[in-house]
Amino acid sequence: MRARYLVNAAERLSEAEELGKYDAGLRMEERYLAQHTAAGRNRARAAAELDRVAAEHGPWLIWVTKNDSRVEPDCRELAGTVFTADNPPKGQIPGAVHPRCRCKAVGMYDTTQPLPPIKAIPHGGAVYV
Ligand SMILES: [Zn+2]
Repeated sequence: MRARYLVNAAERLSEAEELGKYDAGLRMEERYLAQHTAAGRNRARAAAELDRVAAEHGPWLIWVTKNDSRVEPDCRELAGTVFTADNPPKGQIPGAVHPRCRCKAVGMYDTTQPLPPIKAIPHGGAVYV
């Protein structure tokens, strides 16, 4: 992944240089790098949280989203999905689908907390309300 990122960055900078816009291209690459790095940190944080929940509650997890208008379609589709930490749905990790992802995994058999009510959503998933 890093190698591909570097190759793409080099190609973008070459194109910017050909257009006489190297400095602007370099500033853009700095922004891309900051976003890329932040996304990597977010993925690592979300993966660690997923491992923590699985270690605490067992392998069977449920994808939980916030049930509001800000939920992204990709997250809404995954809401209510039962999965295991080693096989997350569509290879996605709750909390790392997009930069402001608020999804999380909860243990399917967590008996320490009362279950919130579940609302079915049209495309087959469910969300906690
Ligand atoms: Zn999300």
